[in-house]
Amino acid sequence: MPEIVYSPGTGSQLPPPLITEPQTHIEDSYTNAPRAWLPPAGAEKKWTAIIIHHSATEKGNAAIFNKWHIEHNGWDGVGYDFVIGNGTDSGDGQVEVTFRWRKQIPGAHCGGTADNWANENGIGVCLVGDFNNNTPTDRQMQSLVRLVRFLKNRYGIPPSRIYGHGTTPGAHITDCPGKMFPMASFKSMLD
Ligand SMILES: [Zn+2]
Repeated sequence: MPEIVYSPGTGSQLPPPLITEPQTHIEDSYTNAPRAWLPPAGAEKKWTAIIIHHSATEKGNAAIFNKWHIEHNGWDGVGYDFVIGNGTDSGDGQVEVTFRWRKQIPGAHCGGTADNWANENGIGVCLVGDFNNNTPTDRQMQSLVRLVRFLKNRYGIPPSRIYGHGTTPGAHITDCPGKMFPMASFKSMLD
């Protein structure tokens, strides 16, 4: 809500209110989610699953993975919709929104599934880190829980459709999001 400021008046009647510029709200008042997480109006896809990844690198951010996926994989950009930093090349727990989410276009993060459903209909979330050797940071997990809660509520995605990459039905064999990713406790935090 804009703040209403009364300038000092001299008469008995209050002067007309001066309405100051509304502050730039980081949060959307309806969803309580950062505005950047909201899909563009009129272009929203009907997403049906959420797929969790690790980067399998110690460091990184959306821009670095974008460059890598273009130069080494020949893709049109970073494969994920969201990247959650670990404090190396972006903030610890910082959620970066990629061009795929902003344009609501299919991902490039989970190949091998029937009719490519996981890329076509699944939202790809990548946490920076190698969770075969480390666990995610507390802030990464807090951000992941908040983001996935927002997404599952928005699209009515049941817990059974929230996967780790390697356990996504039909996906190529991978240990992503890492042997030490705490999937059970993550799922218990979503309720
Ligand atoms: Zn993966």
